Amino acid sequence: AFDVLVVGGGPAGAAAAVYAARKGIRTGIAAERFGGQVNDTMAIENFISVLETDGPKFAMGLDAHVKAYGVDVMNLQRGEKLIPPSTPGGLVEVQLANGGTLKSKTVILSTGARWRNVNVPGEQEYKNKGVAYCPHCDGPLFKGKRVAVIGGGNSGVEAAIDLAGIVAHVTLIEFGDALRADAVLVNKLKSLPNVVIHTQAQTTELTGDGSKLNGLTYTDRASGQSHHIELEGVFVQIGLVPNTEWLKGVVELSKHGEIVVDAKGQTSVPGVFAAGDATTVPFKQIIIAAGDGAKAALAAFDHLIRN
Ligand code: FAD
Repeated sequence: AFDVLVVGGGPAGAAAAVYAARKGIRTGIAAERFGGQVNDTMAIENFISVLETDGPKFAMGLDAHVKAYGVDVMNLQRGEKLIPPSTPGGLVEVQLANGGTLKSKTVILSTGARWRNVNVPGEQEYKNKGVAYCPHCDGPLFKGKRVAVIGGGNSGVEAAIDLAGIVAHVTLIEFGDALRADAVLVNKLKSLPNVVIHTQAQTTELTGDGSKLNGLTYTDRASGQSHHIELEGVFVQIGLVPNTEWLKGVVELSKHGEIVVDAKGQTSVPGVFAAGDATTVPFKQIIIAAGDGAKAALAAFDHLIRN
């Protein structure tokens, strides 16, 4: 059995594995796709001390760091079921999609999250070529350009306010009759001179020239008319979904499906910790996920020496 078994191999899981292994304890990491979301990222410019890198390079760095400490890396392995210890201080079990079972004294859940897609033509083709999901990450890449934000909930309206301070012009596209964000945010957005809001607008296509995005087509659901807007960027803000479906009913989740953790990353199950985008910790970023992973590993170690 492992002392620490990490499930999920993104920045949170990799940091947790390095911190655990540096304590000289048996550490394993099972990941559906080692590297996580950074595999799909082009420019990373906000990981402190690294002025600029790209996702694949960052993921290679995670891999090298984890392997340097002899962590047992089980890539392409998906956790399907978590079984809490049957007796206090007993082993936690993780059942894998391949039929195998891993046992460990402590488990760190770091299965991350995925952005909900609009699923219209052009979205996949122009991902990272104008189609973006994270305003904190990619906002500065659109300095002085025109962008749209799809989604009028809190995250969409926050993104539009944030982007309006960086880019030349923001068009907010909301499918419903009204914005769903908090009134204070909506009022702030409406006060900005370089923002236009379209409600009852259904995005039908993200257009491009074959190499990069150049516009967005939407249907005005009131009139039925189709409109095209020329722009350089689109931020899709219709939800970030935690990869926690497999934990439902076992580990306490928030109403958004995030794993509920305390300040040390402890979940509702003793000996089970969590870190990164899969948790209730706010602001989903690489540096935050990595810091959380380190914290969860230290908390797991603390748990081990007390039990
Ligand atoms: P993830 O990176 O999501 O990793 C989750 C891991 O768990 C993966 O290995 C996955 O395969 C695995 N997994 C999932 N389910 C299971 C399961 N059931 N069993 C086993 N393994 C499982 N942040 C920044 O700070 N700067 C940026 O510039 C930036 N740009 C971004 C650009 C894009 C396009 C995207 C999508 C995100 C970007 N982010 C950026 C956000 C950043 O990537 C995330 O905050 C960060 O990766 C979260 O790390 P994590 O380890 O919590 O989760």
